Amino acid sequence: MSDFAADKSHPRYQSLLMRHRLEMAAKAGMLADSALIAHGRGEAYDYLLGEKTIPSAHDATMEALAHLQNANSAVISLNGNTIALAGTELMQLASHLNIPVEVNIFYRTPERMSALLSHLYKIKNDNDLDVEILGENPDAKIPGLEGPRANCCEKGIYDSDVILVPLEDGDRCEALVAMGKTVLVIDLNPLSRSARMGSVTIVDELLRVANNLLTGAMQEIIRTPRPNYDNNQHLQAAIDHITSTLSS
Ligand code: ATP
Repeated sequence: MSDFAADKSHPRYQSLLMRHRLEMAAKAGMLADSALIAHGRGEAYDYLLGEKTIPSAHDATMEALAHLQNANSAVISLNGNTIALAGTELMQLASHLNIPVEVNIFYRTPERMSALLSHLYKIKNDNDLDVEILGENPDAKIPGLEGPRANCCEKGIYDSDVILVPLEDGDRCEALVAMGKTVLVIDLNPLSRSARMGSVTIVDELLRVANNLLTGAMQEIIRTPRPNYDNNQHLQAAIDHITSTLSS
């Protein structure tokens, strides 16, 4: 991001960089009006988590990676904030795992879809990545949802058995779980409906998760999902971490 002026030594450098990415994306027409509010909610939780990957989140990230590696048909669902904050890293992850990405936004307009798709194609070309980008021509619907937000692609989200949904809204997360999918959620708020609904919820900041997944995928180790994995236990660990920070 060329005109980002903050000094790397600034204690809030990373947070300022993320805000800048969102400002640029908003200018490019990639975001819904509520995008910055959603980001603010995430920032507040990240502050309480100490702006770092806590051990339970790292463990959840490795479990999510195991599901992605063992899926019959996995997909990464991308919305506006996700593409603005970690578009490159998630495209690199998709390329390493040899899975498609699908643009799937809550407030779907042709203008936003076009801005997001062109940004992804630029990432793909600039980084010479071999990733299928879905979402432009939806031909299926997520059962239980009304309106354009139900639209999806049959060969992507609809047919997937494992889906990574960073920053997903609770309704759609619930609908995806009801379809029988393994839903991997990234959400800084351990209390959100998405976090509680997910099969594996990573309570951590999106870009940190994307980098951790990418590092794990590049290790060329094929992990195995744990049959006794307990999502609630991981959510509780995040809540415990926050409360211990507040009381210390
Ligand atoms: P739900 O519908 O699941 O109860 P919500 O209404 O809060 O949750 P949205 O506003 O749709 O959900 O999405 C924002 C969610 O994304 C929030 O829970 C917020 O904590 C989380 N979030 C925002 N930015 C980030 C980020 N950079 N990394 C991880 N999570 C984030």
